[in-house]
Amino acid sequence: MPDSSSALPDLAIDVTGLTKTYAASKKMPAKQALKGVDLAVPRGSVFGLLGPNGAGKSTLINILAGLVNKTSGSVKIWGADADKRPREARAALGIVPQEINMDPFFTPRETLELMAGFYGVPAPERRTDEILDALGLGDKKHAYVRQLSGGMKRRLMVAKALVHTPPILILDEPTAGVDVELRRSLWEYVRKLNANGTTVVLTTHYLEEAQEMCDQIAIINHGAVAACEPTPKLLRRLNYKTLVVRPETELTGVPAAFSGLDASIRKDGQLAIAYKSDATTIEQLLAKLRDAGVKIGDLATEEPDLEDVFMALTSN
Ligand code: ADP
Ligand code: MG
Repeated sequence: MPDSSSALPDLAIDVTGLTKTYAASKKMPAKQALKGVDLAVPRGSVFGLLGPNGAGKSTLINILAGLVNKTSGSVKIWGADADKRPREARAALGIVPQEINMDPFFTPRETLELMAGFYGVPAPERRTDEILDALGLGDKKHAYVRQLSGGMKRRLMVAKALVHTPPILILDEPTAGVDVELRRSLWEYVRKLNANGTTVVLTTHYLEEAQEMCDQIAIINHGAVAACEPTPKLLRRLNYKTLVVRPETELTGVPAAFSGLDASIRKDGQLAIAYKSDATTIEQLLAKLRDAGVKIGDLATEEPDLEDVFMALTSN
């Protein structure tokens, strides 16, 4: 029998006009944390929410998770409106919050079983041991949570988010304060989940991380989306490269031949020439250098990274 409700949505998450104003409390002043955010997360993507501390990333995620009430706007998760069909909407999400929160007196196994119970996963369908093994916690499943290292707790947080096999996994700053080894294994696992069809949303203020992990990146700053594009397109926005030359003999200034270009002498004496890679070739630049009598000791090219995009978009 055809069942239209089982059709997969094109957008895993569809947020429009989302605003959030926190009321003043004893601890904090009133704050408009989100100022009309639109966000469309394609099903199957790894989507990055990139922004500095205080940008509003966790507020957005906590609204998706149902932990914070929005002020206005609409939120659709896996095709379900979060106001009209909240249970369905939340069931589609696995959330790994920024703060580690766990009952220290349970074992990892008990923690996952409790979570599965909370989501109403019937016992025969539970994947407790499989998930613990996948996250390298198999041999710790009977230890008390308070005896686990920080990295293990972090992995247990991820495990907790997966007990109901959600089609969307959201990770809020999963690698903040996490060592390199764990970061690598965590990303490896997230990639595996994504390859198997899980849509992944992650927040980070590490630019390199977003660049490396995400198909698409939304840059969020002061509660608004400053840019939202496929990662390669975002990088193409800066379609320039920089040729860096170490001259054999010190230059007293930028050679006249480069005065029309964006060229400068760096503190270390290297000559840096920015050029549009679709308009100028390295060969042309090298010919100019030869003509100017510059002897090249060494040379390299540099490409812009997200840091540059980020600086350009959020420097207000
Ligand atoms: P991010 O996760 O990007 O660092 P947050 O969403 O945590 O940003 O915070 C966005 C802004 O909202 C910050 O200025 C923060 O201080 C403020 N904020 C967060 N939670 C509250 C709250 N409960 N009450 C008042 N202001 C808050
Ligand atoms: Mg945050």
